[in-house]
Amino acid sequence: MISSFDFVIFGGTGDLTMRKLIPSMYHHFCEGLLDCGGRIVGVARSEMDSKKFRNLVNKEAKPHIEEEFIDKAKWAEFLEMLHYVAVDVTTPEGFEALGKVLDEHPDRQRVFYLSIAPHFFAPTVQYLQQFGLNKNGARLAVEKPLGKDLQSAKEINSLMRAVFEEEQIYRIDHYLGKETVQNLMALRFGNSLFEPLWNRSHIKSVQITVAETVGLEGRTYYDGSGALRDMVQNHLMQLLCILAMEPPAENNANFVRDEKLKVLRSLRKIKDREVSEDVVRAQYTSYGDLSGYIEELEAAGVENAESETETYVAIKAEIDNWRWKGVPFLLRTGKRMRERTTEVVINFRDVPHPIFPTAATVVHEPNRLVLRLQPEEYIKLLMYAKQPGDEFSLRPVKLDLNLNDGLKVRQRSAYERIMIDLLRGDQTLFVRDDELEAAWEWIDPIREAWQKEGSPLYKYKSADWGPTSANELIIKAGSSWFEESGI
Ligand code: NAD
Repeated sequence: MISSFDFVIFGGTGDLTMRKLIPSMYHHFCEGLLDCGGRIVGVARSEMDSKKFRNLVNKEAKPHIEEEFIDKAKWAEFLEMLHYVAVDVTTPEGFEALGKVLDEHPDRQRVFYLSIAPHFFAPTVQYLQQFGLNKNGARLAVEKPLGKDLQSAKEINSLMRAVFEEEQIYRIDHYLGKETVQNLMALRFGNSLFEPLWNRSHIKSVQITVAETVGLEGRTYYDGSGALRDMVQNHLMQLLCILAMEPPAENNANFVRDEKLKVLRSLRKIKDREVSEDVVRAQYTSYGDLSGYIEELEAAGVENAESETETYVAIKAEIDNWRWKGVPFLLRTGKRMRERTTEVVINFRDVPHPIFPTAATVVHEPNRLVLRLQPEEYIKLLMYAKQPGDEFSLRPVKLDLNLNDGLKVRQRSAYERIMIDLLRGDQTLFVRDDELEAAWEWIDPIREAWQKEGSPLYKYKSADWGPTSANELIIKAGSSWFEESGI
């Protein structure tokens, strides 16, 4: 049980805090992981006292906890752990007040969680130092976006490193907190079955899809970002690292992150001319009742909206090392896609010398491992068996592994994992400075090529799987997008 902590949330009245952070802490409290002696200190600009903050949490955060888990007495006890300090992070005044509250327990483990817009990081970190709040190994957790290119990521890193040691900094990519993503590691390194096949000799191609059905949803700030920065640079590249990395010698933060870094450094840079060959960017248009991206921008108040921002991107990535040379990693992500799914598909090579025909009604496909991360969680393996009857022909069969089968435990959210690891001081599932910079180093040339004249921005219909040029990209790579629900 973690008893002695002050968990300070900058942005304590915001959406992320109410939807994810507070509910996660409540679950930990109920599971006996946190002692009620610890404090969760909400910090935001609005003037209010702790009592009012608790009322706000009651109103805004409680509805995000499934009713069956609300225990009246526990909830009341949990609320007592919540405190509030009004701080405008752009001015020094509030930091003094925050310091006084924290100094009531100077020896406690402090965590500063920045759930605020990125332009507030700099003043917050500087004032934390100026008022001496970063003491006793205090931890700093930061949310995405962590930069918009290599240069800005370096600036954020050096800003944080001026005040905190790397061992105190926790860069959050909440995808790494998902149980399913950790299951990818368990699958690879907890079984002897797959690892011997996990290389260029047996795997023909790998696909990673992160598809959302939602569109802009009024968040006009997305227009300054786009799918490449918002999804690929972090979530898809982290998934790719976990799929492609070498087995770490130990499951500890630096060993795992060293291996991920090697993958990022082995990614072949896609430059200039290759960008039009290996990358497809696109924007959704209206379909049926669904508005297009530009109409949504206008509906959100942008007048005469014009935008070159990609809401979809597909990339053929290659990893230049012995294990993966020549194996295309096909990444795609988009908003307003037909289905919400996060899925990894491993296509294995065909048998070297086929001796059986495939049944007449069956299209022959490669052995395929499908790892569905979202919305359901399962692993399926497409294999072949004999078609019953006279003739010796093959039919596909599925090995189906429901990861939650038989487990009567509540599925933990990604943020629960992140919050508890933060309190325990385990950095394994957080991104290190060099990883962040290596990811941007790979992303930047793509963006630079897009900024040149004549770089196409394709269109795709809302509720579809993306533009046809993305199909051409994958066909050229010798594969096709895997799009059925299940195999
Ligand atoms: P939000 O706009 O709902 O909340 C922002 C918070 O910052 C509020 O509590 C607000 O009072 C506070 N704030 C604003 N100006 C301030 C100031 N001058 N001084 C002190 N506090 C100030 O935003 P959000 O959706 O909760 O997101 C917070 C951060 O987390 C953003 O950087 C966002 O990109 C990131 N993020 C959010 C989500 C999400 O699901 N909401 C997911 C991933 C990352």
